[in-house]
Amino acid sequence: MEDKRYGTSFEYAGEIDRRDPLSGYRDQFQIPPGKIYLLGNSLGLISSRSVDSVENVMEEWRRLGIMGWLEGDPPWFYLAEDAGSAAASLVGADPDEVICTGSTTYNIHSAVSTFYKPAGKRTRILAASDDFSSDIYALKSQIALRGLDWREELILVDPEENRLTAEEKLEEAMDQKVALALLPSVFYRSGQLLDIGRLVSAAHREGIIIGFDCSHSAGVVPHSLSRRGVDFALWCGYKYMCGGPGSPAFLYINSSHFGREPGLAGWFGSIKEKQFELSLDFEHARSAGGWQVSSPGIIGTAAMRGGLELILDAGIDRIREKSLDMTGYLIFLADRMLSEEPYSFEVVTPRQPGRRGGHVALARAEDAFRIKESLIERGVISDFRGPDIIRLAPSPLYNTYREIRETVSNIREIVDSGEYRDLSPEGKIIS
Ligand SMILES: *Cc1c(COP(=O)(O)O)cnc(C)c1O
Repeated sequence: MEDKRYGTSFEYAGEIDRRDPLSGYRDQFQIPPGKIYLLGNSLGLISSRSVDSVENVMEEWRRLGIMGWLEGDPPWFYLAEDAGSAAASLVGADPDEVICTGSTTYNIHSAVSTFYKPAGKRTRILAASDDFSSDIYALKSQIALRGLDWREELILVDPEENRLTAEEKLEEAMDQKVALALLPSVFYRSGQLLDIGRLVSAAHREGIIIGFDCSHSAGVVPHSLSRRGVDFALWCGYKYMCGGPGSPAFLYINSSHFGREPGLAGWFGSIKEKQFELSLDFEHARSAGGWQVSSPGIIGTAAMRGGLELILDAGIDRIREKSLDMTGYLIFLADRMLSEEPYSFEVVTPRQPGRRGGHVALARAEDAFRIKESLIERGVISDFRGPDIIRLAPSPLYNTYREIRETVSNIREIVDSGEYRDLSPEGKIIS
């Protein structure tokens, strides 16, 4: 179980930091002073590129006013397409298959409105009960919008005893009654990465349209969405993509579906050359851009563009390699230093590299919430996902191995001293 590549000493951590080919990227980010920031899976940090990119747009707004739509550099009118095609290589899509638009949940609504056509016996939606709440809310409301009852039409596959969701169980649930499946690439709590290729093949054998929410993988795990034949996907811009709080998200539509009518239409989905004809007959662009609804938020898209440039610059394969090495190191340290009493942490995230995303979930039967609170007090920014999980996400772009090693020492000291017992066990509004 133990990985012999790693060592437990601080010297060891310092040594791999010195050899790290991506270490130079840390300087491009603004790290909250005195903190060890391990929540790049929740809100990626601000980079100097995002600051420059936003300042550029503000200056253009000042200087050009409305002329910025065509005279900005790049022109605002094409900014969403621009950011989308730049992001396409991160997920293995063609440039016109990705658009920067909407938000994660909004894009689920947009895609499901387009692809979910309950008819005859095929009326169901398949999802995973361990998926993020908002995704499930969107699916329930989409079913209700068709005049159907989600209690009958939404099939949720539960995780196994080890808290991971078995691909086999998902496959078994794919039958002729299922019209559409929406699954996460990586589960937000456990960090488990699903086998997308296998699930797409299984879904298509049964005639099911399948989409993925890649919020917890985009920007840290490379994908091959087009080659795998994924029908649609969407993901968040503010996590590993470093687009800033509430930044625009991304939507991928497989090119074989460009001829379909977008379920939610709006003028920014028009063929660009015809948009300002303002015809009442909507002709959508034959690209993912056809699924836009409204004017893109240019300031948010500019911030997104900055984060994206850094990821492209570092290279998604190098990012993935370092991410796996960092999470492997963290799992190694957790096994060695946190698994026995009184620490009693268990690694929930899969140990096989090909089955995990960018974060590590550590479970503890008691007091995980208060231990996380103590970590925050000590400046280690992590979070808690009930009932018993602390999530730690080392970013390959701005975290160091030494920070991971220090985090593990902090957890040991918190348990040794019992200092967490002074903290309130009450949850906060944002945990
Ligand atoms: C982060 C995340 C969201 C966030 O949704 P918004 O609509 O962007 O607020 C939704 N689903 C998943 C799986 C996420 O990880």
